[in-house]
Amino acid sequence: MPGRDAYRDSANRLVALGSGGKTGKVWLVGAGPGDPELLTVKALKALQGADVVVHDRLTPQGILDLAAPAARMIDVGKRKSRHTLPQDDINRLLVGLAEGGLQVVRLKGGDPFVFGRGGEEMLVCRQAGVEVEVIPGVTSALAAAAGAGAPLTHRGLAQTVTFVTGHAAAGADPALDWPALARANHTVVVYMGVSTAPVVAARLTEAGRAVSTPVLVVESASLPTERRVLTTLGGLARDIEGWDGPALLVIGEVAALASVEDLSHAAAGLELKGRRA
Ligand code: SAH
Repeated sequence: MPGRDAYRDSANRLVALGSGGKTGKVWLVGAGPGDPELLTVKALKALQGADVVVHDRLTPQGILDLAAPAARMIDVGKRKSRHTLPQDDINRLLVGLAEGGLQVVRLKGGDPFVFGRGGEEMLVCRQAGVEVEVIPGVTSALAAAAGAGAPLTHRGLAQTVTFVTGHAAAGADPALDWPALARANHTVVVYMGVSTAPVVAARLTEAGRAVSTPVLVVESASLPTERRVLTTLGGLARDIEGWDGPALLVIGEVAALASVEDLSHAAAGLELKGRRA
């Protein structure tokens, strides 16, 4: 794995190659949930025009392959609890590359402004006087819901949808407004919530949400490795034990709509694998 100096060297080399005095720019681009076909046309054009693409480890190859053949690819890969390049260094890298006159695409999974630290990267560019443009992406909650056929809002079942992060420091509870999230007819989508799912389920039920509330869990939405399970708040911890891929919890009455055919499997407690139509 490249060390921080290696990133700096490669960034310096790229800047030295320069782009003939052009003014550099950073595009913060939403790469969507993983399926390359879920990129926006604008994201595709940005990739095709990039001198350099700065991406995370989980960005699918099928998306990276859409960049201009001459584009340099920099993997600043991050994995849960294993940051290979600290955020400050990523920020400096983006600014440095743009100041060197390069057209920089910073690819972010899903949407850059949904739990993606895109805001920080944008502010750093702005403060450095580097032009920055944000291209939205399909956030994973939308892809998970669409793929499973579970509308996030639905007349009579949910008038409200809330996106929250289940992330919490080791041993701590996610700092969430449990009474608000526990209201019925309210869809709660939890990002980064697999490891804290037992706590989330416990807090929601303590705050009054029924133990029988349906929960759809979708891992690797839109990718060939996608898998889903339909369970309840009461069964959640048991049914996703051992899951370690990127996954979302879709909690609420709407989860029960996740494909009628799937419901019989769910009732039998079966996991639904690879159900992309
Ligand atoms: N900006 C991203 C979210 C980044 S936070 C977005 O808009 O989607 C990372 C979390 O997103 C993961 O822990 C997981 O909860 C969720 N996630 C990202 N891609 C996913 C996918 N393909 N399927 C399911 N969940 C995903």
